[in-house]
Amino acid sequence: MFERYARQLLFGGIGVEGQKKLSASCAVIIGCGALGTVIATSLARSGVGKIRIIDRDFIEFHNLQRQILFTEEDVVQQIPKAVAAERHLKRVNSSIEIEGVVADVNFTNIERLVQDADVILDGLDNFETRFLINDVSLKLHIPWVYGAAISSTGMSRTILPGETSCFRCLLDTPPGRGQVETCDTVGVLNPAPMIIGSFEAVEAMKILVGSGEINRDFLIIDFWEGTFEKLTISHDRNCPVMNRWRADCMQNISAHEPSNDANITNT
Ligand SMILES: [Zn+2]
Repeated sequence: MFERYARQLLFGGIGVEGQKKLSASCAVIIGCGALGTVIATSLARSGVGKIRIIDRDFIEFHNLQRQILFTEEDVVQQIPKAVAAERHLKRVNSSIEIEGVVADVNFTNIERLVQDADVILDGLDNFETRFLINDVSLKLHIPWVYGAAISSTGMSRTILPGETSCFRCLLDTPPGRGQVETCDTVGVLNPAPMIIGSFEAVEAMKILVGSGEINRDFLIIDFWEGTFEKLTISHDRNCPVMNRWRADCMQNISAHEPSNDANITNT
């Protein structure tokens, strides 16, 4: 029954048992732009049993430079990204469940949209929704994979509730609009989201098969400069989310106690 995944089954980290776990899993991808289309493509082809893709936007011509699932026809037909992604991926893998949801993810609907998820993937382009993912991830004990790509750079990190520090340990509040550069102001080269999206997808696979090889560090890559950097983000004792769900986090926090006041250290 897993014949289509033959080359993946040969990989020691997956195997038949891992493939069964992927088939029984649910991944929720929030944001279906450059990162989301890469993540969704990877997870659908890998056989994750249930994939929910959430995005509120319609496809525009300037998206085609980097959003690998979409076509010129999708633009002409003015199809929402979530609908187009579902339609295309069902033609790639009809043996899994793919659900495109056209919605603006916010505090009123996020719990309902992710409650059955085994992993949440960040395909977003804004900080506010990432903070929402972070908080709901800790509340519902669902791992999430952060990813971002801008210009020629990309970054990613996996957050395991109760095990690793969280997104707010790195950044306590979302930066205001205009305070940070975005793809709308400085652009983006398509290898950045392609590689970061792939990185997020493999992190999701590792989580779903129960691998211990999770990337707990903050990975920063500049694809133009050819530089790779890994930072360790320790628990911030003042992190509001960590404190709110302290009972959950404290179980494993002792292993990651910060050695000084700074919560970022080079590895
Ligand atoms: Zn935190």
